[in-house]
Amino acid sequence: MEMLTKKCTKCGKTKKITEYQKKKQRKDGHNSICKKCCSQYFKKYYEANKDRIKAKEKEYYARNKEVIKTHSKEWQENNPEKARLQKKKYYEVHKNNIKQKMVYRDKKISRITKSCRKDT
Ligand SMILES: [Zn+2]
Repeated sequence: MEMLTKKCTKCGKTKKITEYQKKKQRKDGHNSICKKCCSQYFKKYYEANKDRIKAKEKEYYARNKEVIKTHSKEWQENNPEKARLQKKKYYEVHKNNIKQKMVYRDKKISRITKSCRKDT
């Protein structure tokens, strides 16, 4: 593969194409500013708009909860090995929390099955 270079429109330095984030929408398939400038820009932007970004993320999540859930389910189905590792990692970190939740869930399930039995 030939090593392409590109001039960053922010810092004006010519850098390797690998120093730029890939962007499909761009003509050459890469961002116009280098990764370094990009992360600096986002950092600044994030610092300046922290509360707004957090609020937006929360709002976005609340509005797309179902979509996000299905997406992650699809992802899990397509990446079973990764999903397993992630789950394991998550479990290690949240072990105690999960145990409590499972107890709660078991109680809830038994309550639901009980009420189901009543219906049938
Ligand atoms: Zn740059």
